[in-house]
Amino acid sequence: MQASFERTSWFPIMLRLEGARVLVAGGGNVAANKVQLLVPTGARVEILSPTLTPELERLVAQGKAHVTRQDATVENLTARLPGCRLVYLATSNRELNATLSALCQSMNIPVCAVDAPEVSSFITPALTTRGAVQIAVSTGGAAPVLARRLRAKIEEIMPAGLHRLAAFMQHSREALRTQVPDSAIRRRIWERFLDGTGGPLAMSGETQAAQQELDRILSEGSAKTGEVWLVGAGPGNPDLLTLAALRLMQDADSVLYDNLVGPDILNYVRRDAERIFVGKQTNNHTLPQEGINAELIRRAKAGERVLRLKGGDPFIFGRGGEEIESLVAAGVPFRIIPGISAANGCAAYAGIPLTHRDCAQACVFITGHARADGTLNLAWETIALRSQTIVVYMGLTLIDQLCARLIEHGLPTDWPAAIVERGTLPQQRVLTGTLSTLPQQVAENHVTSPALVIVGEVVRHRVLSPTT
Ligand code: SAH
Repeated sequence: MQASFERTSWFPIMLRLEGARVLVAGGGNVAANKVQLLVPTGARVEILSPTLTPELERLVAQGKAHVTRQDATVENLTARLPGCRLVYLATSNRELNATLSALCQSMNIPVCAVDAPEVSSFITPALTTRGAVQIAVSTGGAAPVLARRLRAKIEEIMPAGLHRLAAFMQHSREALRTQVPDSAIRRRIWERFLDGTGGPLAMSGETQAAQQELDRILSEGSAKTGEVWLVGAGPGNPDLLTLAALRLMQDADSVLYDNLVGPDILNYVRRDAERIFVGKQTNNHTLPQEGINAELIRRAKAGERVLRLKGGDPFIFGRGGEEIESLVAAGVPFRIIPGISAANGCAAYAGIPLTHRDCAQACVFITGHARADGTLNLAWETIALRSQTIVVYMGLTLIDQLCARLIEHGLPTDWPAAIVERGTLPQQRVLTGTLSTLPQQVAENHVTSPALVIVGEVVRHRVLSPTT
């Protein structure tokens, strides 16, 4: 698995500021921006500046902010620091801001020197607010313009009535908590409410109708029934997740995944879902499938919504069938969501069509995984045909044997063949050659798993987009 996220030293939290003293050094427009953000929190905003913008003067006159008309010197700031929850440094003098920031940090008071993340101990994200709903976007100070762009996009998609929905949910929360003590069931009730007509009703201010809908869901009974969702996650690139997969990934209580499901994909699973790695190593296919089946059943019977997340499509060399059979036998309800299989993903991202009117009227998917005796025992006479494309899953380890068998059974030694390593991912590599060259190319280029072999004349029809 490749690490996909850069480290960041910034940790987002929501800070309660009501009644807390917040000091703002500076009285210009930059300070005014921050004061505007702070006032709605109910903080006691204290400005340290000999002069104020008209906007700030107005806020002071209204009693929403307080001012000490002094220069923001070390001495004056020191006098006011004790007991402050936060400090904003917004003087026009960057050096002074840096000095004052060091002073605050020496007293362990969180400080933000505006536009100078390198000397700040906290930074202010770009904010989108709809009542109690707040979305904060941060780039860790790296690209404020990008953060503002993203915020603009979020603004566009956040429904205007979201604050009403949040208020409705907050209002009903206490009552629901007493009626339904189990938090997992409560979550499901809310999900049903939001997925149905409840959300739109509450957003448009039809509180009574929204309440009726909530009561209706409650009266439906909320027996905690578990189920298993067998979901294909595609070949690795999150762009290739289906909408259904994404939604179930967001709703699951727990997720059982194997090694084809990388961190980029897992990133889309609900944060609180329990993650269980049940990876099968390439050379260790004997890992007990029964153990996985039993775990799926145990969790579902305990009421969990269990996501069984598989690379590619669950029904193509994914043992999805076996898992479902055991669920059926145990009487556990399930859903199956297909995924883009490695063949489709790799072919598309490598520019190799799987069928072609001129040369490939059929396409077979075969496994290159050996039997216990180390041989590839397949119906070669139906596979080694010139008129079809052969896609080999798990074909890397026995690539020599594979190419040799195909030649033995009638394909020419110079028959086109390709291998796609880490298909669809940014690290994708494609090697093209022939049945007689491919094994050596694989060895020389140190191709590693996952890799998919494509054999047939379609490889000659490989298309690459002209660079833009
Ligand atoms: N159910 C999966 C296949 C599981 S078998 C699917 O439908 O794709 C595992 C094999 O799939 C690997 O050995 C490799 O041959 C292939 N594979 C899966 N993801 C791949 C990827 N991103 N690039 C290349 N091959 C991949």
